[in-house]
Amino acid sequence: MNDRTKLVAGNWKMNGLRADGLALAGELAERARAAKGVQALHCELLICPPATLLSPVHETIAGSGIALGGQDCHAAPKGAFTGDVSAEMLADSGCAYVILGHSERRHGHGETDAEIRDKLAAAVRAGLKPILCVGETHQQRQSGHAIAVVAAQLTGSIPDGVARDGLIVAYEPVWAIGSGLSCKPENIAQMHAAIRADMAPATRILYGGSVNPTNAAGILALTDVDGALIGGASLDADSFWAIARSCG
Ligand code: PEP
Repeated sequence: MNDRTKLVAGNWKMNGLRADGLALAGELAERARAAKGVQALHCELLICPPATLLSPVHETIAGSGIALGGQDCHAAPKGAFTGDVSAEMLADSGCAYVILGHSERRHGHGETDAEIRDKLAAAVRAGLKPILCVGETHQQRQSGHAIAVVAAQLTGSIPDGVARDGLIVAYEPVWAIGSGLSCKPENIAQMHAAIRADMAPATRILYGGSVNPTNAAGILALTDVDGALIGGASLDADSFWAIARSCG
């Protein structure tokens, strides 16, 4: 696989009890094994279940080629942080990736760029691949500030000394997440080109925001789109699999 093999990542958010979460993971693992490894899909597959399901999902997907990721982490390796999960704990549960700075963390939990920067440093410390989410609000796009907002998020969220070619950036317009409204292809292409200019040739840049089996192929074919971060459609094995097949 070259450095920019497409990555199709499912963010399950706060969805999945043991029975349905393991059934979904099992269904995907079975398909991946039947496809004789995820390379046959022309992409890397990643699922990010809630923290309660990381360990059992890790066992369920063993040997399938599907990677496991967390949805957030604390900046400290351990300590008196009730309810939090460290990057080391994610790695210990089988994770290879962690999503950071998702808009539901930035807006729902008031996370700042500075906090996300510390979490990103923690992810690197623990050997995880960080997926840094950035994206503008509808108002910021309407007022012509989308590219500047995203550039500022990148500058503020990436610690000094972290190699940009090892990072994954997910461009997720806030207004497109879970809304059924997908960003116009020309706007996605323009934003990804702007992010590429700030990052490195090997940085993978994902698009996220109401990606579904119908619009996936068009989005994934755009220059500088190296995969997708998928919320709602990742909760259905057929939809997630169809999006992954769109990479071919
Ligand atoms: C997300 O939560 O990262 C996301 C892109 O959600 P959805 O696909 O449901 O818009």
